[in-house]
Amino acid sequence: ATMPPLLSAIANAGRHGVLVKSAVAMERLGRIDAVALDKTGTLTEGTPRVVDVRPLRERGLDEVELLTVAAAAEHPSEHPLARAVVDAARERGLDLPATEGFTAAPGIGVMAVVGGRTVQVGAPARLLAGAGAGAGAGAGAGGAGAGAEVEAKCAADADGYGYGYGDTDGVVAALVRELEESGRTAVLVVVDGTPAGVLGIADRLRPDAAATVAALTVLTGTAPTLLTGDNPRAAARLAAEAGIEDVRAGLLPQEKVRAVRELESAGHRVMVVGDGVNDAPALAAAHIGVAMGRAGSDLALETADAVIVRDELAAVPATVALSRRARELVV
Ligand code: ADP
Ligand code: MG
Repeated sequence: ATMPPLLSAIANAGRHGVLVKSAVAMERLGRIDAVALDKTGTLTEGTPRVVDVRPLRERGLDEVELLTVAAAAEHPSEHPLARAVVDAARERGLDLPATEGFTAAPGIGVMAVVGGRTVQVGAPARLLAGAGAGAGAGAGAGGAGAGAEVEAKCAADADGYGYGYGDTDGVVAALVRELEESGRTAVLVVVDGTPAGVLGIADRLRPDAAATVAALTVLTGTAPTLLTGDNPRAAARLAAEAGIEDVRAGLLPQEKVRAVRELESAGHRVMVVGDGVNDAPALAAAHIGVAMGRAGSDLALETADAVIVRDELAAVPATVALSRRARELVV
């Protein structure tokens, strides 16, 4: 017997470097009419580099110490930003002290005890909002309660930033703004509840990002949306380069889910493309979830309906087109 069209399409997708996990997924890929793309690791190459190390000198750490504690805390994390921080420390030949009690809060950052000090590394808005709220070190790793509190504080600020807590002199805010305006992702390092410095991290758009956005717009009839946990300034800059207008930044994992549900209740069948632990809930909520395989987190790969094994974003529209063709044969 000849192979059924959906199975041949799966085999074909495999030759394009895409692992489609089931015939149901292969069939659904052709039905999507809206796409939500994650930024870090999906639209970007996911190999960001630390390009600025800025200790707040009055807080006592120098560049080497700042990078050392940050890298130690980030060491267990699989987030692309964490790898950038660890690589920067390695390139400088720094020895990383052992850590205890590592926790990661998807979309916020990480926390660990390094040499008896509690170190948090993550999104400035989230960490500052938490630090002053008395949640202390717990904010970065917060449970639902702390998360909601942080969210409320951030929402209270017009810019989405909760500065003012733990940054009474505005020094951190100014530094973060300076880095973000030059397109960096600013990552705050907090030691024992006090901001110790900021790292500026730069990532590049994938070479096939703009072409993929254009192809998906034609295939679905809808311009893709960017969903990101990163700051609005870095997000807007990158989105413009990729040709995306609808940008939703500063999102926690559950807020990505909410954005997907909004699109679906507007009548769309949504495909989410992501790579991180923070994308897993949105990948699960979507009509179809696609994970970037090379640097993707295990949770994203397991949750997704399809995995881009070869590291090319352009494989996404190619697979949608394959599904459409197979479905024409099935009908
Ligand atoms: P994206 O949605 O663009 O993939 P994430 O949701 O993974 O981004 O992260 C959102 C923000 O949370 C990052 O821009 C960063 O500020 C912070 N963050 C998350 N995880 C980490 C980490 N391991 N180290 C530093 N910052 C982190
Ligand atoms: Mg990501």
